[in-house]
Amino acid sequence: MNADIIYERIEKARIKAGRNDRIYFTAVSKTRTVDEMREAEKFLCIDFFGENRVQEAETKRPAFVDSRLQWRLIGHLQANKVRKALEIFDTIDSIDSIELSDRVNRIAGEMNRKVRILIEVNTSGEESKSGIAPENFSRLLEHTITLPNLNLEGLMTVGPLTDNERDIRSAFANLRTLTENARRSAGLALPIISMGMSDDFELAILEGSTMIRIGTLLFGPRYYPA
Ligand SMILES: *Cc1c(COP(=O)(O)O)cnc(C)c1O
Repeated sequence: MNADIIYERIEKARIKAGRNDRIYFTAVSKTRTVDEMREAEKFLCIDFFGENRVQEAETKRPAFVDSRLQWRLIGHLQANKVRKALEIFDTIDSIDSIELSDRVNRIAGEMNRKVRILIEVNTSGEESKSGIAPENFSRLLEHTITLPNLNLEGLMTVGPLTDNERDIRSAFANLRTLTENARRSAGLALPIISMGMSDDFELAILEGSTMIRIGTLLFGPRYYPA
């Protein structure tokens, strides 16, 4: 495992993009063991853990009570897992409907918490992907910012499943444009543009990503139980 090599690539892409802002590194630890995660935690260039399943995160989270790293939920959140998710995660990055935002807001209120969230947008239009459709984004944005227990920090997307660089960049450019428009219309800083994974993070950085999410490149290939 070598996060520093990835960090060098992040830096190269940042310089190529002519940027001097910070790019956060989320280590996507789904399917990885506590030991693998402890190894990752040692790299100071890593800022967060990202998990996509509430149940899996629940089993690993107690081993990291003293960790310097916060945990982000980056996978789809089912309504019946909201309370559990709020017990485990520091941020919910996959808010993709008005119903879900209402539910997270209500339960956060019951728990006396203010929750940092991202809105996930399906910029590729692929049916298998979660996230709100771009044409419905502004309605969700306007609703979300009225909810007192949610703190909207930005947007997230997963790039299209293709080798075509133009299509990938165009999806990322769409998310950046949505974020910039939302900053203006909502009057919020929205510092987080979470986009870019193992295969496309450099393109995402060129298109303005401020947070990349890396699994395979850091930990190696994932093996799902049969
Ligand atoms: C699994 C996953 C990643 C990481 O993917 P890699 O290709 O392994 O880097 C990033 N974001 C989300 C939402 C994921 O589910």
